[in-house]
Formats: sequence, structure tokens, C-alpha cells
Amino acid sequence: MKMYDVTSSIYEGMTVYKNKPEKQPELKRVTNGYVSETRLELDVHTGTHIDAPLHMVVDGDTFETLPLTNLVGQCKVIDVTTVESGISKTDLEGFNLQKNDFVLLKTKNSFEEEFDFDFVYLAADGAQYLADIGVRGIGIDALGIERSQEGHPTHKTLFANDIIIIEGLRLKDVEQGDYFMVAAPLKLVGTDASPARVLLFEGLQ
Ligand SMILES: [Zn+2]
Repeated sequence: MKMYDVTSSIYEGMTVYKNKPEKQPELKRVTNGYVSETRLELDVHTGTHIDAPLHMVVDGDTFETLPLTNLVGQCKVIDVTTVESGISKTDLEGFNLQKNDFVLLKTKNSFEEEFDFDFVYLAADGAQYLADIGVRGIGIDALGIERSQEGHPTHKTLFANDIIIIEGLRLKDVEQGDYFMVAAPLKLVGTDASPARVLLFEGLQ
């Protein structure tokens, strides 16, 4: 059984959304004699993370309401590395996506380590197409699932249909295909997102 860790590493100086300095994690280590303890200051949207509806919906559901059962199970990695901008319905047709699928979008973002302001994202009609199919979740290898689209239609369509959003995946080494996914976020209460460790297993049903 082969395992892929598709999580981005967290460290000071890592790639953060739009390179905003205030989004950098801070690791403050205090050493007394031989004892070291580090305090971690972290935006909940750092690196690989899972969004909760509160992120884009006033009084929306907070992180602990997301069912963990939807984050563990089969998933489909689909290769859309030829798409240059917004992933649309036409880019997604032809992958035979089904109700309850958890779909991970492997784009050319996975081959870029620096923040790319023109990152590939899920267009509104692509999100609507996935909502119509009834997928249970969608993951992307960008720090955002949309590029600050006016009114954030992609986030809103997905949240309105209880579709889980994972952002910041690293899929360079993963081929298109079926995997068993374990996406394990921190057990945060009351937040609009949480960082997560995401593992994909090949040949596990
Ligand atoms: Zn986010």
C-alpha cells in the first residue's frame, strides 16, 4: 500500500495567500535550560486546510459541525493540469463524476511553490456543476478555491450544498485515479477553518 502525504509544510517563510505578511505563521520558541516550548500563531487558513461555512456566510456553521465521516473515505484525483485559469463545467465533464464523490483537482498549481496571483481556481459554473452532481467534497491545490471572484460565488455555491472545501493541497506526485483519503483537521471549535493533515492511500478500499 502506497501513501501520499498531500499536505503542505508549515514554517515561518512558507507560501501564504497573496504573500500577505500578516498571514505568516509565527513560531515563538522559549528555552529554559534544556526545556523548549514553542507557541504557534497561525491563521486557520494556513497551508493545507478545510473551510467551514462561517468563512463566507454571516452566522454560518462553524468548523466543528463538519462531519468527519465526510473527510475519510474514497476520493478521486482528477487531472486538470491543462486548465490555465478557471476550471469550468466543460473542463469537468468527461470525468464521470458521481454523487457523493470527493473530488481533488490536480492543477498546474501543484508544480508551483511560490504564490501565483493567477492561480488556477474553480469557476462558478464548475462549482454549480459539482453541486448539481451532489459531490460530498472538493479539494484544490491552491490556497483559495476562487480568486476573489466578486461575491465569492464558488464558495457560496459549495457551502449552500454542504460540499466540503479543502484548499492548499500538494498533488504534484499523485496521478489521476481513485484513492482512500484521510483528511484530519485539528478539532477546533467555533472557527471558520482548520489546518489539516491530508493523506491519500493507493489500493485501499
Ligand atoms: Zn480557506
